[in-house]
Amino acid sequence: MNHDNDQYDIETLGVRAGTVRSQFNEHSEALFLTSSFVFNSAAQAAARFKGEEPGNIYARFTNPTVTMFEQRLAALEGAERCVATASGMSAILATVMGLLSAGDHIVASRSIFGATVQLFNNIMARFGVETTLVSATDVDEWRRALRPNTKLFFVESPSNPLTEVSDIGALAALAGESGARLAVDNCFCSPALQRPLELGADIVIHSATKYLDGQGRVLGGAVLGSKELMEGVFTFLRTAGPTLSAFNAWVFLKGLETLKLRMDAHSASALQLATWLEQHPGVERVYYPGLPSHPQHALAMRQQRSGGGIVAFDVKGGKEAAWKVVDATRMISITANLGDAKTTITHPATTTHGRLTAEQRGAASIGDGLLRVAVGLESVRDIQADLARGLDAL
Ligand SMILES: *Cc1c(COP(=O)(O)O)cnc(C)c1O
Repeated sequence: MNHDNDQYDIETLGVRAGTVRSQFNEHSEALFLTSSFVFNSAAQAAARFKGEEPGNIYARFTNPTVTMFEQRLAALEGAERCVATASGMSAILATVMGLLSAGDHIVASRSIFGATVQLFNNIMARFGVETTLVSATDVDEWRRALRPNTKLFFVESPSNPLTEVSDIGALAALAGESGARLAVDNCFCSPALQRPLELGADIVIHSATKYLDGQGRVLGGAVLGSKELMEGVFTFLRTAGPTLSAFNAWVFLKGLETLKLRMDAHSASALQLATWLEQHPGVERVYYPGLPSHPQHALAMRQQRSGGGIVAFDVKGGKEAAWKVVDATRMISITANLGDAKTTITHPATTTHGRLTAEQRGAASIGDGLLRVAVGLESVRDIQADLARGLDAL
C-alpha cells in the first residue's frame, strides 16, 4: 500500500504502510542484515551505479528494511520522502549540511534541544553558518532576526522542558515570504499528534530514539519533506555516512505499529497527572499544553491532537524540594531520556541545563524547583502515587 496512502487513517498507515517483501512473502517485515547487494551482470551493476536502474547497491545508500521504515514514516507525516539517519542529531546535521552553505544564516528558537544549540553555535559557526536564537512564541522576534541570507527557520514544538508551543503556521508563512525553509523537530508529538507539513512546514525532523521506538531501545532519526529538498539531505548522508542501521530500522518499524495507541495513552495519563499536580499544594506551576492554564493552550489544541506525554512543574521550595521529590520515587526512572514506556523524571537545572549559568537558566525560565516528567505507560494511579510520596512530604 504505497500508492494509495491518502485514503487510509493514521492507525492503518502505522501498521501497514511501507511494505517491501522478499521472495518468501513474509507477513512481518524482514530484517535485511546485509551491507551490500549482488548484481546479475556487469551491465546491471553499471546501470545501478549510474542511477538508470532503481535498486540497492550498498547499505550506506539504501537497505530494504530502512526503506520500509522511511516509507512508513513518510506516510504518517504525509511527506513525499523520508531519509532515515543514525540518530536525531545526525538528522539535524544532515539537514544543515544538505541544504545550507557557508554564508547562510539560521534563525532558531531558543528553546531547542541542547545539542542542537551546540551544533549550530559551536560547530556550524566554524563552517560559516551563523545562527540567531529567538523566542519560541514571539513571531515578531523571528521577523526582526531575518537577514537577506536567512535560509533556515528551526523550531521544536512543544519545547523541552517548558512545553512552549510555537505557531507553526505563522512561522511557515514568514519563512515562505522570506525565502527561508521551516524545519520542525516533531520529537515531542510524533505524527500521531501533530503533522507539521500540513501546517505549512517544509521539513520535519525526528529523533526516532524517543516516541517512534517508544521503548527506549535504539538510536535513530529521520528528515522528511519534498523529494527536491530530501535529495540534498540524502546526498550528504550517502556520502558522509550517518545512515540508519537495518536493525534499528526494524525496531522502529515495529514501534510505529503501536505509535498512535501509545501516544493517546501517554497523552491521557499526562493530562490526568497535570490536572492533579495543578491542585497540589506543593506545586507552584504546571507546564502542560493540554491544560487550559497553559499560555498557548488554544494554539496547541489547534495544531496538536492532544497535549502529549511531557509534563513539567515547579515545586515550591527550589532545588532542595525538587530533589526530595525525585529521591522519594521508587518506580519512576531518574534519567534524562523521554518517550519510553517507562516514566522518567529529570531535574533540568542540575542535569540537561546544568552547564548554563544561573543567569542563562533564569532567562530560559528553568527554575531550581523545576521537574520534568515524561509520562510512561504504567497505570496513572501508580505514577501519581510515586510522585505524591515526595510532594506530600514537603
Ligand atoms: C533527543 C532529542 C534529539 C536528539 O536525538 P538523538 O536521537 O539523541 O540524537 C533532538 N531533538 C529533540 C527534541 C530530542 O528530544
